Amino acid sequence: MKRFIFPLLLVQVLLLLTLSACAQTGEPAVVRQEINVNLSPGRHYLSGDSTLVLVAGARKISFDLSPAATVDQVTVDGRAAQFSFGNSTLTVDLPHGKDRATILVKVVYHATFNDQVPDQLAGDEDPTYGVNGTIGSQGVFLGGSAGWYPAPSATPGRRVVRISAPAGIEAVTAGKRISRSTHLGVTSSAWEEGHPVGRLSLSAGPYMIKERIVDGMSVYTYFYPDNADLAAGYLDAAAKYLHFYQKLLGPYPFEKFAVVENFLPTGYGFPSYTLLGGTIIRLPFIIDTSLPHEIAHNWWGNGVLVDYREGNWCEGLVTYLADYLMEEKKSAAAGRDYRIRLISDYSSLVTPDRDFPLRSFVGRIDPASRAIGYGKGAMVFHMVRSMIGDEAFFGTLREMCRTWMYRKAAWSDFTRAFSRGAGKDLAPFMEQWLLRPGGPHLSLKGATNKRQGAEWVVSGSVVQTSPPYELLLPLRLETAGSAVSSKVVVTGKTTPFGIAAPAAPKRLLLDPDADLFRLLTPVELPPTINRVKGSENLLLVVAKSCQADQGTMQLLLASLGQQRTAVINEDVVDAQLVHGRDILFCGVPRPGLLPVLPEGIAISSSDFTLFGERFGKQDDLLFLVLRNPNVEGHVMALFLPLSEAAARQYVPKITHYGSYGYLAFANGENRIKGRFPPLAGGSMVEFGKDGGQ
Ligand SMILES: [Zn+2]
Repeated sequence: MKRFIFPLLLVQVLLLLTLSACAQTGEPAVVRQEINVNLSPGRHYLSGDSTLVLVAGARKISFDLSPAATVDQVTVDGRAAQFSFGNSTLTVDLPHGKDRATILVKVVYHATFNDQVPDQLAGDEDPTYGVNGTIGSQGVFLGGSAGWYPAPSATPGRRVVRISAPAGIEAVTAGKRISRSTHLGVTSSAWEEGHPVGRLSLSAGPYMIKERIVDGMSVYTYFYPDNADLAAGYLDAAAKYLHFYQKLLGPYPFEKFAVVENFLPTGYGFPSYTLLGGTIIRLPFIIDTSLPHEIAHNWWGNGVLVDYREGNWCEGLVTYLADYLMEEKKSAAAGRDYRIRLISDYSSLVTPDRDFPLRSFVGRIDPASRAIGYGKGAMVFHMVRSMIGDEAFFGTLREMCRTWMYRKAAWSDFTRAFSRGAGKDLAPFMEQWLLRPGGPHLSLKGATNKRQGAEWVVSGSVVQTSPPYELLLPLRLETAGSAVSSKVVVTGKTTPFGIAAPAAPKRLLLDPDADLFRLLTPVELPPTINRVKGSENLLLVVAKSCQADQGTMQLLLASLGQQRTAVINEDVVDAQLVHGRDILFCGVPRPGLLPVLPEGIAISSSDFTLFGERFGKQDDLLFLVLRNPNVEGHVMALFLPLSEAAARQYVPKITHYGSYGYLAFANGENRIKGRFPPLAGGSMVEFGKDGGQ
């Protein structure tokens, strides 16, 4: 008996610590949960049982469980117990008595999960495609909210899952894989989490498994046979990014990492694994974009958890540390381009009625909420880093990982940590970005240039709309010699500045490297697909030569979030109808309707040329967005498939290239993508040869 005393004491101390968190709900702390499930894909069926070790003292325990489940039996300490089950809640009465420290509860249940997988997967903003739980021949996905096991409200201190399925159906979930075997026509595996986080998800399918040991930890790919050839590349990349983030942020917080293929085109990050769609895995850029993003979520979102009472900070931070930082590592120019993209996307997509403060962001539901939660969020972290320097910024992030791992942190915890790291109170700075929708409108006004002795002095004002933001605004004066950089503390509506230069000034630029989050005027905004997605008055004009069917055009509009767009034929187009609107043409319209095409671009109804490359096969498609020359701040876009088949093939892809201005597709993939440069608007002043404006 003696040998049990120490562990029991340890358990009790641990439980008393966690118990306080649950005391208000009256729900017991859970020391350990074991879940056993048996999957029958042919019948969409699951049978399971779960055993929990609870801290004694509570009167009852409640579980979330799918309404599609049937509870076969509940026992408490080995004896049949009373329970009620309704509205997805299973409630079990618990005995109480002073003589016990823990109680053993076992639930036996079965359920079917058969969420329909949609045929048409247009659009990119509902990452679940409406599928929370499905057990089927194409694969198994049981999400954390599907209720596939009885989930108590308290996260257990430890968790073990054992899954069995017909031979060859391999399952994967969170935690370390502690066993795996195929025996008598059944494939089984067991997984154990030392630090369970939230609800469990589970995937299964006819996976081919590849494994590599990285720093003593298993890294896996679970890919369908068709994608098995990609495993080595993904294992290399996962090892590279795990090294990178461990160096940047501190130890990886879980027992394994796996890249798991899904039969839906998702990009999910779960604790210790990511679930990427089969079509997504094949896209060549995913390995250096989505993969680092999902790996970084193991530290942020799944490791340090989000306290949603102050909104979701983790998408902004992960976008900054993955999508953005990978660009910055390539070159300073690539980093700058990415920041311009974030700022442009926001101004293109977030119309005033779609805007809200960053602190109200919970998760993306449409392109606008993504531009806020991911894009503006990332820019807030960039501004903090610019202000306090790399050492304090990354040092603070490591400190956050040390102190908040497996716990919920809020925006205010980041504010306090950055303030400590910087040695000054950043609360007022952070609050203007977190509590206010939108951002500052900034422009240069009244800039003049005077020669004073051996040097030139450029002076003027930075103006912003009310209520003003407090900003450290970079200005750059380009001269006949080297450029002069300056930072102006901007506080009120008008802030004067003066910059001295040793050579004749040529151009003065406001925030030339896009280090600030600000709202761009329509003139400054580059013409991109996001401008079409963010349009408030889009009109689709169908030319006679349009090759796409009506249904395909509706699919295009739906994927762009513009299903309410009016559709007209080109022969009824007149100046009044198109005035003040954004226009999308299908096919080459009659002369005079499109603006003059930029140099290097030529179109006809049977072919097109994009910067020297000619496309003339039926499989080819061009999508092009231009400034509307008739109405400042509006765009004209051209959708030019060379056949209905090409239209149908590429339409679901176009929306994913939101920040681009032109796309050419051929042979089933994107061949050319790019964007036209932004115009400077009020953020640039040019000086004449004599140095005058
Ligand atoms: Zn994310």
